[in-house]
Amino acid sequence: MERTLSIIKPDGVGKNIIGEVIRRFETNGIKIAAMKMIHLTKPQAEGFYAVHKERPFFGSLTDFMTSGPIVVMVLQGEDVIAKNRKLMGATNFKEAEEGTIRKEFATDIEKNVVHGSDAPETAAFEIGYFFNDLEIQNR
Ligand code: ATP
Ligand code: MG
Repeated sequence: MERTLSIIKPDGVGKNIIGEVIRRFETNGIKIAAMKMIHLTKPQAEGFYAVHKERPFFGSLTDFMTSGPIVVMVLQGEDVIAKNRKLMGATNFKEAEEGTIRKEFATDIEKNVVHGSDAPETAAFEIGYFFNDLEIQNR
């Protein structure tokens, strides 16, 4: 059993595909263990993406992530980190596999609909950034 953090980014919420994204998780055997909708402040977005603070796209990315509400979820299941990344597709939607969330719905390398943790250590940090233990179900 593994956990990962998923975010439906402001572009995904704006396109009314919250249900579509969650349906893909549920039909692929992934459990939603926690979920909420929030609107990040700039410092909160900068803290979340601190690993990218030296990257040229950091300012633009954190502006985008604060441009509207997001849905943050803890996903749970066997090998869920890799499973979620596979459902999401490559960061750049142009390189994403057919049938992935980003291939179907992303419009831009930045506005790519979803976020997913990339390793157990980042998942632990990212889940803790948004949720405390009492907010996470253990089904
Ligand atoms: P995420 O962390 O959101 O799940 P990822 O792990 O596929 O995506 P990262 O390399 O961690 O990609 O980049 C974080 C986010 O920064 C990307 O999802 C995208 O929104 C944005 N990003 C990444 N590379 C670029 C780029 N070259 N130009 C603009 N934005 C970018
Ligand atoms: Mg990443």
